Amino acid sequence: MNVPSQRPRIAVGRLYHESNRLNPQPATADQFEIQRGEAVFECAGSTLGGIIRYLRQANVEILPLISVSGPPSGLVDHEFYQAIRKELVERIEASRPDAIILDLHGAAASTEIADLEGDLLAYLRRHVGPFVAIGIGLDLHAHLTDSMLENTDICIACKENPHSDVVECGMRAAELTLQVLRGDLRPVVISARVPMILPGAGETASGPLGEIHDRARELAAGTSGIVDISIYNVFRYADDYNIGQVVTVMTDGIVSLASQVAKDLAWAFWDNRERFVDDLFEIQDAFEIVRSQPANRPYVMADMGDRILAGAPGDSTVLLAEVLDHFAELRAALTITDAVSVKHAQDAGLGATVTLDVGGQISPGLSSRRITGKVIHLSDGAYTLAGPFHGGEASSLGAAAVVLVEERVFVLLTSKPGFSHDPAVFTSQGIDLKSVDFVVVKSGYHFAMNFKGIATPLLVSTPGVGYYRKGIFRYDKSRFWPEHDIDLKAIETKAFGGRSISR
Ligand SMILES: [Zn+2]
Repeated sequence: MNVPSQRPRIAVGRLYHESNRLNPQPATADQFEIQRGEAVFECAGSTLGGIIRYLRQANVEILPLISVSGPPSGLVDHEFYQAIRKELVERIEASRPDAIILDLHGAAASTEIADLEGDLLAYLRRHVGPFVAIGIGLDLHAHLTDSMLENTDICIACKENPHSDVVECGMRAAELTLQVLRGDLRPVVISARVPMILPGAGETASGPLGEIHDRARELAAGTSGIVDISIYNVFRYADDYNIGQVVTVMTDGIVSLASQVAKDLAWAFWDNRERFVDDLFEIQDAFEIVRSQPANRPYVMADMGDRILAGAPGDSTVLLAEVLDHFAELRAALTITDAVSVKHAQDAGLGATVTLDVGGQISPGLSSRRITGKVIHLSDGAYTLAGPFHGGEASSLGAAAVVLVEERVFVLLTSKPGFSHDPAVFTSQGIDLKSVDFVVVKSGYHFAMNFKGIATPLLVSTPGVGYYRKGIFRYDKSRFWPEHDIDLKAIETKAFGGRSISR
């Protein structure tokens, strides 16, 4: 058993990005918030925030590495990724920790590699050797690969979508990693993979996924030795071998039932696959609700096809065109990613009337929309997320401009795609959400949590690269239901871990 003689030294960091390869614009350094040293501690509403909270309570020495996070977008620029990877290892080598605990998304990909986190963890393990514990807390939309499991001691996901429990996930990842370090836990992980995605019904509190989580909680409570069950609903726009739903069962030492538990839960996905569908409103129906049911205003419309929270560019003008062309009595606020139009608005200046062709420049298949309006707000786009998801964190829209069209539609032009699931995106730019009938967000799940009590949610079926429909996207490596004909005869399990950290 390993009992560190001094206060354990634990290095912490984050690399958080969900990368949608269908977004043609790579995610470059300017799209990320990067903190180094003590600034890494300013992340209360995240998995990293939970890691730090637990470690402070545990009275260990915390060594901040680097935190890199940004809204989902295109593939991470590979040179940028390599620079971050190099810096992370240099900081680890300089601080010589007993353990490393990281907040990773799990569905990041670079312009050259499909499994960024798997690459990062293999690289870290090679550099630190076998005797430094590595723990990670992942998003449940991770594309969980064998490399992530092979190169970590603790690998768990948050359990809820929308992700209301990321802080708890971080705390648990830290708790378990410290147990490994003390020799109190010898984690064995069994994984079971099902070759399917969830075309819809991705919320964990209800529907088939709610039932699977209920069953997982029951099995965890009723089977001695189970430490964690994590259930991964793979990011639907990743393209890699072995895409699928993954269940991991972590036990303390070998527990023979673990494999059966993992298989049972994996089969529950397959057996219920036809039930994973979303209930979305067609565009006209959503607008008709806003028009005819004023008591529930303001509404918050989720632009499902252009979800920045799924890595889409956020430049769709489809809902903007609808309100301008067909609903002249409605007042609205929405964001459009368009750095060029921001520049034009800046050049024209506050109070100027401008005519701009906004949006539609990045998303394949979408087009721009001409607007004429008054520039009523200009800023550098810096704001703080209101939360609860990532609440308190600094974020940026890049240079931003608000153009008020027809005295009723606030078009918030941003240079970078923003975390528009959060009301602070609008309020930070001088837009009062009580003054509009609806606001458009580029999010499908998380907005419901951050807009709770502020606006009535409506999920709207819109075009774009942020919403999976069978047959519309190209997949080169992945094979999964419902995109491909899969004849599932058996579900195999794999085992990882079982080693102890002793020096
Ligand atoms: Zn997620």
